[in-house]
Amino acid sequence: RDAVVCRRVSKVWAAGTARAHEALRDIDLDVAPGEFVVFLGPSGCGKSTLLYLIAGLEPATGGEIWSFHDRIAAPSPERSLIFQETSLFPWLAVWQNVSFGLSLKGVPDGERRSIARAALQRVGLAEAFDKRPDELSGGMRQRVAVARALAMRPKVLLMDEPFAALDVQTRQKMQDFLLDVWRDSGASVLFVTHHIDEAVALADRIVVFTARPGRIKTVVRNDLPRP
Ligand code: ADP
Ligand code: ADP
Repeated sequence: RDAVVCRRVSKVWAAGTARAHEALRDIDLDVAPGEFVVFLGPSGCGKSTLLYLIAGLEPATGGEIWSFHDRIAAPSPERSLIFQETSLFPWLAVWQNVSFGLSLKGVPDGERRSIARAALQRVGLAEAFDKRPDELSGGMRQRVAVARALAMRPKVLLMDEPFAALDVQTRQKMQDFLLDVWRDSGASVLFVTHHIDEAVALADRIVVFTARPGRIKTVVRNDLPRP
């Protein structure tokens, strides 16, 4: 079973109203387990929309989306979504942010601490365990967001321009960091960007979105060696 399967997926925002807007039409996409796929294209061409549908945050208006054995109908911790601006809870310590999803599932405190510790180690932020989010840099906060996702053991990591708010140097470091985390986790990654250099640095395959809304996308295999 593939990690993500889209069959003839369509999305019309505000369907049936005067503001109806077709963002996606008849999208077919297969993502293998462990594959790193980048959505590349200009602003407004439906990249985030497709990511939201795969996350289960928005219903498709046509077609079907599957992840492993499940038809996607609602959000799941197996598919963690990370945005450009991470919303960490400022009043909670870093470890509590990282294990927040586990507290919702009723995982006891001691276990949450050890899972958070392991996840923070994997993103190289063990020393931030007891800190507050506002004591960290932007890049570190995005790493905390990745740790929070990893703590839920996702099979698919969905990332919507996660490094767009960072300066160029930090972005480069975050790309290397993400490749390490990805290789280590075995998860599939779907990553949205409008930077060609970022797509080439990260992807196994690049899905090129065109500005014309609703048209089918081209999928390119990326043969350039990664760092
Ligand atoms: P991208 O991520 O490629 O920049 P989006 O998926 O955000 O593109 O947007 C695709 C199109 O759908 C845009 O025209 C955008 O205005 C529209 N859109 C996105 N989200 C909504 C929404 N919640 N309601 C209505 N239209 C939306
Ligand atoms: P991106 O940075 O991916 O291009 P946008 O700035 O287009 O994202 O959208 C930011 C947020 O606003 C998203 O949650 C999106 O769903 C929503 N949005 C975008 N376009 C519209 C729209 N035309 N009507 C309502 N909500 C929208």
